[in-house]
Amino acid sequence: MLSDLVIPAPVPVTLPVRGSLKRFPVRRIWCIGRNYADHAIEMGFDPDAEPPFFFSKPREAVVQDGAALDFPAATDNLHHEAELVVALQSGGRNLDPADALGHVYGYAAGLDMTRRDLQAQAKKQGRPWDMAKGFDESAPIGEIVPAAEIGHPTAGAVTLDVNGERRQSGNLNQQLWPVNQALAYLSTLVELQGGDLLMTGTPAGVGPVRQGDTLTCSIEGIGTVTISYLP
Ligand code: MN
Repeated sequence: MLSDLVIPAPVPVTLPVRGSLKRFPVRRIWCIGRNYADHAIEMGFDPDAEPPFFFSKPREAVVQDGAALDFPAATDNLHHEAELVVALQSGGRNLDPADALGHVYGYAAGLDMTRRDLQAQAKKQGRPWDMAKGFDESAPIGEIVPAAEIGHPTAGAVTLDVNGERRQSGNLNQQLWPVNQALAYLSTLVELQGGDLLMTGTPAGVGPVRQGDTLTCSIEGIGTVTISYLP
């Protein structure tokens, strides 16, 4: 009974769905680390040596397309990571990679904003990444495009522009763990559910963002998300 709550319930977090007045309700935001070989190498890791690993962001970190944001607190090295976002309509445990895409509602362009200085410190000290990855307004995500309309893209350019200048350029076909395999692996660790999002990792070219910058992530065949940081 909602009337039993001692304070108001959290406001639901939702994303727009392309071609619809309805919205997608966000449950949890999972993120995969080092899912493109060239990015793993630029961060100093061997891309062949590891199974996938995951971290998360709170759903309240979602930022809508077109937002103008204050620069985040507590960082001198805010980085952009352009990523394909997968939105689940259902889930389960121990999904078969052959069936996993049947749980996907749609796809979107997203940004895994990262306080790289706090992440480097956490890595060095063996501490959690939450404050590097899960801070306020760290998950800008564009409108969700239903898989019913576009299918399940396995190739397509992933780009990130800062003030109109290209900074990241990759392709979905470079993912070490394609969406179906990433979802299957993640579902051995947690029970996936409808409303869950998966941010699928970023190609090479991550770098710093400054006050006054405008960022656009584009995923070919899916869409874009643009945000700006106030001067
Ligand atoms: Mn990322």
